[in-house]
Amino acid sequence: MTTVQDLQNAAKMFAARTDGFAAGKADICNDLANKLQRFGSFASEKQAEFAAKLVAWSVPQKSTLTGVKANYVAQLVAELDLTINLEICKVTKFRNGSVAVVHPEFGGGIFGFIKDGMFEPRANCTQEIIDRLTEAQNGGLKYLAELGKITGRCCICSLKLKDEGSIRRGMGPVCAKRVGYLEQ
Ligand SMILES: [Zn+2]
Repeated sequence: MTTVQDLQNAAKMFAARTDGFAAGKADICNDLANKLQRFGSFASEKQAEFAAKLVAWSVPQKSTLTGVKANYVAQLVAELDLTINLEICKVTKFRNGSVAVVHPEFGGGIFGFIKDGMFEPRANCTQEIIDRLTEAQNGGLKYLAELGKITGRCCICSLKLKDEGSIRRGMGPVCAKRVGYLEQ
């Protein structure tokens, strides 16, 4: 049977996670722990089952996806201190220097980190994201420019490509200069 302590531990586990699935679940665990403490038992069989599930879910799931080489992308981001926008994800550098693959929207979660040139996916990462990362790794700046042409936005600064040269290049002039992408 799930105990108050189990639920309190689960709350701490959820609170430490950044994935979307964990959002709000620490509060639910704490709420259930308080109720269990107050009443001595769960209100129903269903609630007891839910509590047990929450405890099981609180343990971060290891991704079943395999890591991929992403040293080029990580180097580009780390050395030039920039964020690359790959449309379905972004590769960015955190303040502590680590390079992460994150959700394109702020606060959308972390899909994994690139450590020693290898991307290590988290449970919330998808194969689509890994494929996109691999395409950028293998295709380099030319791939980023191609993606810019498709999306109409610069892959580096995410701004809309406006002038003719930028649209043709697939990258804004400031970013092209910054990453050393010569005019094609
Ligand atoms: Zn740009």
